[in-house]
Amino acid sequence: MIKLTSHDPKETDQIGYKLGTLLQKGDVVCLTGDLGAGKTTMTQAIARGLGVKEDVTSPTFALIHEYNGRMPVYHFDVYRIRNIEELEDLGYEEYFYGQGVCIIEWASQIREVIPKEHLWIHIQQGAECDSREIRIEGTSARFDSIMEELSN
Ligand code: ADP
Ligand code: MG
Repeated sequence: MIKLTSHDPKETDQIGYKLGTLLQKGDVVCLTGDLGAGKTTMTQAIARGLGVKEDVTSPTFALIHEYNGRMPVYHFDVYRIRNIEELEDLGYEEYFYGQGVCIIEWASQIREVIPKEHLWIHIQQGAECDSREIRIEGTSARFDSIMEELSN
């Protein structure tokens, strides 16, 4: 587990971008934190680090937006999900266990279907208006090395 402090959106962007460059196909990144914490800001940066050139916007109503980077990027926002059937209707397993990278905002809402291997990022408002504490946990040795890179 690592804890990083971001002092402004640009710093969150730098962390996200670097993470994006380090991810591999099949990776699942979970994001939690209150509204306005910076989950979408982080997602946009991760997507750019993954080579996505398009604008990344919140899929709050669609549940998922798909992008093409150096691999497919699936951006989920499950804030408004009512039950897992909604995810099943989308065929979520094809994404979660597929050939792209999944980034899931509000992942705690669907904890029961999150793959065992994942990176979990929790963003919390800090003492100052623009400061955020970013806590990152991973489930495998490879994620440990990613976290080590991010700490440098
Ligand atoms: P969420 O998706 O968690 O609801 P957003 O990324 O949509 O949050 O919004 C975060 C807001 O907070 C943005 O307006 C962003 O500019 C602002 N912000 C201020 N400081 C930071 C920071 N250090 N990291 C990320 N976002 C920040
Ligand atoms: Mg968001």
